Amino acid sequence: MVLPHHGSELRERRPPVYAGYLDHMTSKEEVLLTMGGPRVKFKVERVGDIPGAVKANPSFIGLAGELADALVELERAGCMPILPDGLVGGNAAFIVTHEHLTDTPLEGYGTVLVVTKSGKPAHHRPSIDQGDFVIVVGFDRQEWRVHYLSMTPAEKPTSDTPLLYAALMNNGTGEGEGKEAVGHKDHIMPRVAIHGHMFSSEADALLNGLPISKHETLFSTPEDLTALEELTEAYPYPEYRVYIRKGHGFFSVGMTVEEAMDNVRRLKRADKGETG
Ligand SMILES: [Zn+2]
Repeated sequence: MVLPHHGSELRERRPPVYAGYLDHMTSKEEVLLTMGGPRVKFKVERVGDIPGAVKANPSFIGLAGELADALVELERAGCMPILPDGLVGGNAAFIVTHEHLTDTPLEGYGTVLVVTKSGKPAHHRPSIDQGDFVIVVGFDRQEWRVHYLSMTPAEKPTSDTPLLYAALMNNGTGEGEGKEAVGHKDHIMPRVAIHGHMFSSEADALLNGLPISKHETLFSTPEDLTALEELTEAYPYPEYRVYIRKGHGFFSVGMTVEEAMDNVRRLKRADKGETG
């Protein structure tokens, strides 16, 4: 018995929403987004507006500007592909340490984590005024809840906030949050993290000598976080500066935006077979 047109008949019966995605669909996450499932899988609690004194803070403005440029560059380089929900796959974060928050309403929080908002449209340069940066002031791991400040109630922190938190605020001592997080004990903590949905395979890790997590998971889940934490704890900064979450993407860290970006530029050059 011959079934010559079996494949094409199946394709014709697919609902239109799947068209174009199924052929290269590999992860549960892509299936979830295609079905209209949520990116952000933790609870969010907005505790207020970003205070005026913080919006005017030179440290915050300077780092947000550098990170915005970096995201534009990453998108152009193909490191932040458009996902099935029509928004790009990639985000970034930096920390603002307590000495830069003196005399602002955030003084009492100690070090805070600034992340890009959830759901970046393609070809858009993030800006503070347009609400593209969100300030995370707390992460409750047990409750799987993020407390944050934003320009308006419309914004949520990026779905990868727990992972960015792990990369920049978790010092491997279990005391992650607050003033003690930076340079605590033996761990030097990086201050900038850049994440893109690229370089997520065993082959990518092998080619570039990068640590990779063992399992694929849904993104934005406790399992996703644990997998990245195991990497950052086993391969601490600054000896290691790029981590691969299998089936998800890369996390590049540095003390500055430039350092985190240089790691990615090096990966891109290696990917093209160039040296240096
Ligand atoms: Zn991601």
